[in-house]
Amino acid sequence: MTKGIQQTLERYFHHQTFRPNQQEIIETIVCGRDVLAVMATGGGKSLCYQLPALMLDGMTIVISPLIALMKDQVDALSNQGVTVETLNSLQTYDERQRVEREMREGKIRILYVSPERAVTQAFSATLAGCKVALFAVDEAHCISMWGHQFRPEYREIKHLRERFPGVPFAAFTATATQRVREDITSELRLKDPAEFIGSFDRRNLRYAAFSEPNAQVRMQKIISFVAAHKDDPGIIYCFSRASTEELAERLRKVHIMANPYHAGLPTPERSRVQEGFLNNSIRVICATVAFGMGIDKPDVRYVIHAHMPKDIESYYQETGRAGRDGKPGECLLFYSAGDRRKIENMLVREFADKKKAEIAREKLDQMYAYCTAGSCRRQLLLSYFDEEIKACENCDVCGDRQVKKIIPAGSPAKMILAGAKEVDGILTTPEFISFLLGLERAKTVRLQLNTHPYFGAAKGREREELEREVSRLLREGKLLLEGTTVRKLCFPK
Ligand SMILES: [Zn+2]
Repeated sequence: MTKGIQQTLERYFHHQTFRPNQQEIIETIVCGRDVLAVMATGGGKSLCYQLPALMLDGMTIVISPLIALMKDQVDALSNQGVTVETLNSLQTYDERQRVEREMREGKIRILYVSPERAVTQAFSATLAGCKVALFAVDEAHCISMWGHQFRPEYREIKHLRERFPGVPFAAFTATATQRVREDITSELRLKDPAEFIGSFDRRNLRYAAFSEPNAQVRMQKIISFVAAHKDDPGIIYCFSRASTEELAERLRKVHIMANPYHAGLPTPERSRVQEGFLNNSIRVICATVAFGMGIDKPDVRYVIHAHMPKDIESYYQETGRAGRDGKPGECLLFYSAGDRRKIENMLVREFADKKKAEIAREKLDQMYAYCTAGSCRRQLLLSYFDEEIKACENCDVCGDRQVKKIIPAGSPAKMILAGAKEVDGILTTPEFISFLLGLERAKTVRLQLNTHPYFGAAKGREREELEREVSRLLREGKLLLEGTTVRKLCFPK
C-alpha cells in the first residue's frame, strides 16, 4: 500500500516526500478507519483526503464551507486529469442536474459539496444510488460551539453517517482544542477515530504584542513598521471597514501600495485586490477578517493586528498566513482595554443566546490574557491548543527578558499610575491593589496577570497605604472608575 501511496503522490501531486503526519493519515483512511486530523494552516491537509480519493474504489465526498477554496482545488485536480465536481448553491439548476447525473453514472472521483447542500434530503437520495468511498469533512471545528466559526448545519452531517454507516469519515481542522475535538467526534458520530494532532508550532514566526490605547499613535507605529518593510508583502487586520480604508489611504500617502479589503466591496474589486496581492502589484492589504480564507501566498512577511482580535483561534489562524515559505515572519498585535470593551459590546449585540455569549466572553478573556501576559507568547498560544513547549526565544517577551520592564521606583503614586496603565479597565480597585501586592486571586489567575511584570510590584507595602494613594489619584482625576455594575479602575483617555 505504501508503494501505491508514494506513486500516487508523485504522479498527481508532483512531490517526493510527505509533510509530518500526512502519510500516516492517508494510510489510515485507505484502510477504512475513521480519522480526526488536526493540522496547522499550511500543513497540507487537503492532500490527506485527495490522495486516498484517487486510490479508493468509489467517490469521495468533501464537505467544505469555502467555495472559493473549492474552486482552486477543483481546478488544480482537474488539470491533473482527475474528475472533480462541486455542488453548491451558486450553481444553476441545470448544472446541478448534470453533476447529479454524472454522480449516478460513477464518473466523478471527488465531489466538493457545501455543508448546506450536503445535509439536504435530495443529496442523500442521490448518494443512495452511488458508490461512496469516503466522506471528508473539512473545517470540522465548525461543528462545535467552542470552535470559532460555529455553523449549525454541520450538526446535520451526522445523518449522512447514519444513512451510510459503512462509509468511513475523515474530519479535518486547522484549529481545535480538546473540547472541540470531543465535539467533532461525538457530533459526527466518529467510530473510534484515529486522532492525528500536528504541531502548531511555527518556529519561523515571531510574535509580539503592544499595549497602545491611543488610536493615532497606534496608526503611526503601524505606518512606521510598514515603511521600514517597504518591499515585503504584508496583511494588516483592522476592526472595521472604515478603518481598513483609512489605513490604506494613509499608507498610500507614504508611497506604499496598500489596498483595503472587506466584505462591503463589490466582488470584482475584491478579486482584483486578491490578484494584485498574489502577483505583488499590491504590497499591503488592510483587511477585515473577510480576507485570507483560502488564499495561499507563501511569502507574506508580516501580519499586523491593528486591533485586538476576539479569540485566540482566529488570531492564530490569521497570523498563520505569514511565513508559509518557512522564512521569518512577524506577527504584531496592538491592543488596549478599550479594544476589549469594544468587542465586549459587540458580543452583547451579536449573541442573544446566553450560552454562546458566555463562551465568546470566555474566549475574549483568554485573548486579553495573551495580550497582557508577561510570559512567552508562543508558549501561551500553543498551550491554548494543548501543546507544551519550552520558552521560545522568538517572541517579544522572551527577547525582552534581559531588558525586563523597569518598574518606576520612588513614590508609590508613580508605580500605581504605571501599573494602572498596564491593566487599564479590567480590575476593580481592591483587585488592582491585590495585583500590585502580588496576591493571587481567581481573576488574576484567569487573566494570567500573575505572570505580568507588575504583579507584585508593591510587595512589602501596606494595603492601606496603596488604598490611600489610589483614592487620592481618583480625586485628582489621574485615575477613573468606569462601568455600571462593577466599577473598574481606568486610565483617563
Ligand atoms: Zn517566547
